[in-house]
Amino acid sequence: MNTIQLVSRLPNVGTTIFTVMSALASEHKAVNLGQGFPDYPMSEELIALVNEAMKNNYNQYPPMPGWMPLREAIAEKVDFLYQSVVNPDTEITITPGGTYAIYSAFTTILQPDDEVIVFEPAYDSYIPNIEINGAKAVRVALVYPDYHIDWNAVKNVITDKTKAIIINSPHNPTGSVLSEKDIEGLRSVVEGTNIFIISDEVYEHLIFDNIPHLSILRYPDLLKRSFVCSSFGKTYNCTGWKMGYCIAPPELTKEFRKVHQFNAFTCHTPTQVALATFLKNRDAFLSLSSIMQEKRDYFIELMQQTKFTLQNSYGSYFICGTYEKMSDEGDKDFAIRLTKEAGVATIPVSAFYQNGKDDKVLRFCFSKKKETLEAAVNKLINY
Ligand code: GLN
Repeated sequence: MNTIQLVSRLPNVGTTIFTVMSALASEHKAVNLGQGFPDYPMSEELIALVNEAMKNNYNQYPPMPGWMPLREAIAEKVDFLYQSVVNPDTEITITPGGTYAIYSAFTTILQPDDEVIVFEPAYDSYIPNIEINGAKAVRVALVYPDYHIDWNAVKNVITDKTKAIIINSPHNPTGSVLSEKDIEGLRSVVEGTNIFIISDEVYEHLIFDNIPHLSILRYPDLLKRSFVCSSFGKTYNCTGWKMGYCIAPPELTKEFRKVHQFNAFTCHTPTQVALATFLKNRDAFLSLSSIMQEKRDYFIELMQQTKFTLQNSYGSYFICGTYEKMSDEGDKDFAIRLTKEAGVATIPVSAFYQNGKDDKVLRFCFSKKKETLEAAVNKLINY
């Protein structure tokens, strides 16, 4: 019998590195500092609120753009945090996760042969998201080792096909954050053009050393061309809930919802009902930076006993480090060996480069219990 032939839409893509490394970690019973998720419990109160919503019969479809009280609570929050007034009816859409919001934003704006500027290392979904829409990723390297943006290099790759630029702060995988100078750089690139901005801000509450998060929501001139994507999973330690949202001006939101309504259509109702109440508790998101900063600092201190050299991290769940002193191997091989032999799983940073660029750097996730970080470092010390 003939087997059916399928022409891949994503011929160069394998299984995402996060899934690969988590599977390897569990196979070898390794401490998992790879995929970014907390291993400590989320808020009991938020769990109880979801439970209560289910018991109160909030179990049918909510409106397609999301549960209105949740959208109102988000509008209140962004006004409080970023002095940004957005309309919950026409500018906020609840999505099943931040990654989905980003994919939908790309699908909303891209036409075949459009170009999108992507900074590398880049979160691994961006380029496949662009390519599956028939567009082309134009890669600009963040400048190693502090991973800053060279805005002149950006200007040099702008063409009449440039449709969008995707930014991500705090940055996954490097933990770098955008400064006012970067906002100026971005403004100078997009001003007077039809270039859209997709701003991945899923780590907005995980920013350290009293650095302010420069959300695109703060800048009305930039927001008018932007899709700002965020995540509840990162904020409330429930990455498995896959809940996020996208804020964009009304004309853009209208088109975004056309894509969303025929994909997921809407999101899990009881979770939205619960989040609408929980979002009012400002402490729950305001306290996150210091909790996570403590974890970062503890991890940095512990890692001094190893042969890794860590880079700086100013935000996110992550910190990168080089193993130059330990091996000449490529980062993928080294990460696999470290999982199998030392019993610690990490993410090789070359997975965030389309061309396999390899600076011999691994990404460590420090959003873990103290005991987990200690167990991991104890294994690394002797390796
Ligand atoms: N965002 C998470 C990370 O960077 C992973 C999400 C996923 O596995 N798709 O580790």
